[in-house]
This record gives sequence, C-alpha cells and structure tokens, in this order.
Amino acid sequence: MEFDAIVIGLGAMGSAASYQFAKRGARILGIDRYAPPHKLGSTHGESRITRVACGEGLEYTPLALRSNVLWREIERESAANLLTQNGFVSIAGKKRASKAGNAEFLEVTIAAAKAAGIEYEILEGREFRKRFPAFNVKDEDVIYFDRVGGFLKPEACVETQLRLARHLGAEIRLNEQALSFEETGGDVRVKTSAGVYSAKTLIVCAGPWLPELIEPKLMPGLKVTRQIVCWFRVKDSARLEDFQPDRFPPFVWQVPAEQISYGFPALGGREEGVKISTEQYDVAVDPDHMERTVAAAEQAALYEEYVAPYFPGLDRACVRSDVCLYTSVPDSRFVIDRHPDHRRVIVASPCSGHGFKHSAAIGEALAQMALGEPHLDLSAFRFAARRP
Ligand SMILES: Cc1cc2nc3c(=O)[nH]c(=O)nc-3n(C[C@H](O)[C@H](O)[C@H](O)COP(=O)(O)OP(=O)(O)OC[C@H]3O[C@@H](n4cnc5c(N)ncnc54)[C@H](O)[C@@H]3O)c2cc1C
Repeated sequence: MEFDAIVIGLGAMGSAASYQFAKRGARILGIDRYAPPHKLGSTHGESRITRVACGEGLEYTPLALRSNVLWREIERESAANLLTQNGFVSIAGKKRASKAGNAEFLEVTIAAAKAAGIEYEILEGREFRKRFPAFNVKDEDVIYFDRVGGFLKPEACVETQLRLARHLGAEIRLNEQALSFEETGGDVRVKTSAGVYSAKTLIVCAGPWLPELIEPKLMPGLKVTRQIVCWFRVKDSARLEDFQPDRFPPFVWQVPAEQISYGFPALGGREEGVKISTEQYDVAVDPDHMERTVAAAEQAALYEEYVAPYFPGLDRACVRSDVCLYTSVPDSRFVIDRHPDHRRVIVASPCSGHGFKHSAAIGEALAQMALGEPHLDLSAFRFAARRP
C-alpha cells in the first residue's frame, strides 16, 4: 500500500505529526528505531517548560500559542493530563549567562510578551522573594513573571498522541530503523531494517540521529550535545510547600555563571526532589556511543554552581538524574522545511533545547504542509533562512 505520509522518528515531533495526519484521515505510517517515549533521545525527564513569550525570538510565539490550544484539545480527546499553566519566570541580573548565546533572553522575553499582548509583571528581587520564597534572588535582579507559561509532561504527550494516532488508523512500527530514503518520480521510498515502504511525502523527525539521514551541508554546524538533569532533595518537609507548583513556577535564570539554569516545581514528595539543570553546547557526542549515566562528580558540580547559591531549600543529595540530548545549529533556530533536493521530503528539527513546547503546533503544520492545507508561517525556519 502507498501511504500519504511516512514519519521517521516518533518522539516529540513525529508523534505530533502522526496524530495530526491520522486526524485528517490520511494514510500514515510512523516508524521509530526504538519504542517512544524512551530515554535515548531528547524527549524524556518528566517535564518541559512552556512559554508563550520566548526569549529565543518573537517568531516562536505563534507556535507556542497554537500548541497550547492543541495540548488542551488532546487532553479533552484523551483524558490525559499534559499541560499545567502555573506561570513562567525569567530572572536576570547585570552579570548574567546567555541562553543559547542570547544574553538578552530576559529583554526578548519581555518584548515577546508585549508583542503578543500577554499580561506580565516585572518584579524586583525583594518582592519576588516574598511571593516565591524558594528563590534566593538578589534585590537588584529583574524578574519577569507571566501566568500563561508552565510545564508539559513530555512522555505523556508522546504516548498520548501515538495512542490517538493508532486509534485513528495510523500504522505505527516500533523498533524498526529507517536506513535510507529515495525520491522516485511520484513518491518517496523508505528502506528500513524490516522492509521498503512508499508514500507521497516523507517527514524526517529523527532528532539527534538526524545526521544519519540528511547531508551535513544542509545544516552546517549541527551538533548533538549531552545534557544532564538532576533532581535535588528538598532539605526538610516544611520547605516542600515552597516548591509546589503554585509557589514555584518553571524558570530560566541567567545566573552569573557560564550557563543559565532552569527548573521545575516538585512533582512528587521531598524524596522525589526538584529538577534543576543547566545547559552546555561545547562537547559534541554520538548518540550511539556516549555516557548515559550522570556521574557523582557532575551532580556535585551542578549543585555547587547552579543550585546551592540560588535554592537554599535544596539538599546536595541528587535523588534522580537523566542524560538527554540537544540537537543544535549555531543560530539555535529550528529547521522545518522541504529538503531542497527532494521536494517530497520535509525535515523537522526543533533544535537547541527549546522545541518541545512547540511540537504540537509543528506536528499540525507538518501535516497541513504535506496535505496542501494552509498552515502557520514557518518561513523563519527554512534551510535558507539562517541568521547571518
Ligand atoms: C535536557 C533537556 C531539556 C529540555 N528542556 C526543554 C524545555 O524546558 N522546553 C522545551 O520546549 N524544550 C526543551 N527541550 C527540547 C525538546 O525536548 C526537544 O526540542 C524535543 O523533544 C526534540 O524532539 P524530536 O522529536 O526532535 O527528537 P526526539 O524526541 O529525540 O525524537 C527522535 C526520534 O527519532 C527516532 N529515530 C532516530 N533515527 C531514526 C531512524 N533512523 N529510524 C527510525 N527512528 C529513528 C528516535 O528513536 C527518536 O524516538 C529540552 C531538551 C533536553 C534534552
């Protein structure tokens, strides 16, 4: 049978795209080399920040707004709990780290909120500490706070969209690796570890394994980097309430260090800990040959530099940890575009550690693009639209 579309990779992007194709009645085949949601790519670790005002640029706002509508729609269709809008905080002082090279993250967040007409507050350190006592901000820090941000549960989002896609007739093949594709006259053929399939359109959402399927010249400087995430124990039960979602919104903090820090409220008890992390873009890895556990020395270094000075209520005991992968290009912008040499092939890589929140809308736009329907403007994310 010829499919309307084949989706390679069923993580954040591919699960969303498969669901959106299936919802439109398209004949869809989704293929993944593992069984998502899994812990080997970029879409695991309990939580992802969602923000409508994005410090990465104003071009992301329409994707975030549309995604929030879609997350709620998916929740209604599935009875799953995916999105919590308990607010978003961006903190910066004079001396500050850059998020993905952008030292103006706070200022761009404010500009994006203004442009989108989002209600927000700018708070001084003293006032912020009174309302959100777990954060040890300085009096002179500037703090942005809105109530439309929050967090998503990535594993549940992927699992739910794949379940809905199957229910709507999608064929989902797990533990099957796509090896290559070729465009023939009227279709695209995909060779996998188990067979050959053809479709009118191919969507490639292979995340950190993208370099195995597309030529490096299409995404110059593409890098896969190993990120660590740790959950630190709350020091005592009395302090746990300061880390609950109503008093501890997800945050991006441009701390006076090399990298930013970010974190989430406690989603369990004291012993389940509070997830705080940072980012690194320096050391590239091969997803098939890399260290998948977080060493005690890495946990201790994260605690000393990014946790202890800012969250006095958290203990040095790292109760859980994960390794996750960023797929980045030098300007940190997404790549969502038709392959320049194979017009039936669309590549979707929400690069650089900030793609999850937008994945519902990107999945929808991919299905619409392939089926010739109107869709959100993705021209900022073309191969040829890279920043100078
Ligand atoms: C530590 C960390 C924190 C983050 N925090 C945030 C955040 O707070 N907010 C936010 O919005 N974003 C965040 N992100 C970014 C976001 O999670 C990613 O942008 C997004 O999950 C990427 O999804 P993806 O579909 O591209 O990749 P993945 O979800 O990794 O999916 C790729 C899939 O392709 C499959 N695959 C690969 N090659 C093949 C092949 N040849 N054949 C078949 N299948 C294949 C893989 O098995 C995998 O399932 C974070 C990322 C990390 C790592």
